[in-house]
Amino acid sequence: MAVLAINGGQKVRNSMFPAYRVIADEEERAAIRVLRSGILSGYLGCWDEGFYGGSEVRALEEEWAAHFGVKHAIAVNSATSALYIATGAIGISPGDEVIVSPYTMSASAVGPLIYNGIPVFADIERDYFDLDPHSIEERITSNTKAIIVVNIFGQPYDMDSINEIAQKNGLKVIEDNAQGPNAKYGDKFAGTLGDIGVFSLNYHKHIHCGEGGIAVTDSDELAERMRLIRNHAEAVVGDKGYKDLTNMIGFNLRMTEIEASIAREQLKKLDYLVDERVSNVNYLNSKFSNIPCLRTLPVRSGCKHVYYMHPLIYNRTAAKGVTRKRFVEAVRAELMPAELREAEGALVSYGYVRPLYLEPIYQERIAYGKDGYPFNNSNISYAKGICPICEDMHFEKLITHDYVYAGLTKNDLDDVVSAFEKVYENIDELV
Ligand SMILES: *Cc1c(COP(=O)(O)O)cnc(C)c1O
Repeated sequence: MAVLAINGGQKVRNSMFPAYRVIADEEERAAIRVLRSGILSGYLGCWDEGFYGGSEVRALEEEWAAHFGVKHAIAVNSATSALYIATGAIGISPGDEVIVSPYTMSASAVGPLIYNGIPVFADIERDYFDLDPHSIEERITSNTKAIIVVNIFGQPYDMDSINEIAQKNGLKVIEDNAQGPNAKYGDKFAGTLGDIGVFSLNYHKHIHCGEGGIAVTDSDELAERMRLIRNHAEAVVGDKGYKDLTNMIGFNLRMTEIEASIAREQLKKLDYLVDERVSNVNYLNSKFSNIPCLRTLPVRSGCKHVYYMHPLIYNRTAAKGVTRKRFVEAVRAELMPAELREAEGALVSYGYVRPLYLEPIYQERIAYGKDGYPFNNSNISYAKGICPICEDMHFEKLITHDYVYAGLTKNDLDDVVSAFEKVYENIDELV
């Protein structure tokens, strides 16, 4: 029997995995074109022709809208910023409650706080990790104004059920699609399923330009409000003659011309990069489904999943009681990091991010100043236990890994499978 690497045996894999390299000659040429033009940002922060940005930003917005089949795309400097302008645009006011997924990057819940609203966390679905429509319904009160759904790991949210709940209760839907570019619900792209959708162009996402984000909507009114908030709204509304002053305190969330030029090239590669991920995961799932302590997960019916990460469910009983942490540590010991991400070690983890309500900001109920505003005006609970499925997934069952990206060979994928197989087959060494 092989000795597990965690017990001093040979690793399954001794060389690093190739990096996820998506920046190439096309992006270099685009960036140089902008540098040579001498105009690194085309924005002006007043009601003038330059209010909507320079030529690269506007071209990116047109191309993005065309690709995703949506009327307006608004480029900003991050998906976090896109969530801010989206929350401001829909008119969130102090004390308004916004239902948010707890199993997501922290930024998904911060938009409401920026406008002094109250994030209310609803539980997630067992196999999909997206907001559960039943849990949303239980959280709706007369103060609820919106739902922020998150297509976590690239799995589209339950659009039919949640949009219907939103419509019935007069709520807006903001779709955090940072992890789901090119995911689909039926024939509609994820990101275009709610009132406003948000994409990320951060370095760690499917495609990137360093830092960047895009908000999309079919609504002329919401689009204009988002463009105002992006760029010093308070200084512009007067000259523009814009009358609704709700949330017209502006920011500077503008994307530069270089980032836009790079993002335009990245968009051309999106179909290929996403489809490689999907076929890698399909291959991995065909192998993982033979490992008794792992369960592969379904894609929502009629949907396309784009696998920002590859989620799996761990069955401790089938692994002779070995904890998930110990199992994952043993798998990590068999593998190697990816180039450019050496510091992270092998790219296999237990759980994703802690359920957001367990973070200090919610546990201590301190956001603005030191007296607990805006939480002190609300009795919304952030106690441990409010989202039991999310906690079960995070603390007991979910395993994620990142070995799914374009550029990995079949050999690379086979090494990942072999590491999980080897640990399972030698589970007695961990008992
Ligand atoms: C990455 C991410 C964000 C934030 O994106 P930035 O562009 O880094 O601001 C928001 N939500 C989710 C779900 C993410 O994964």
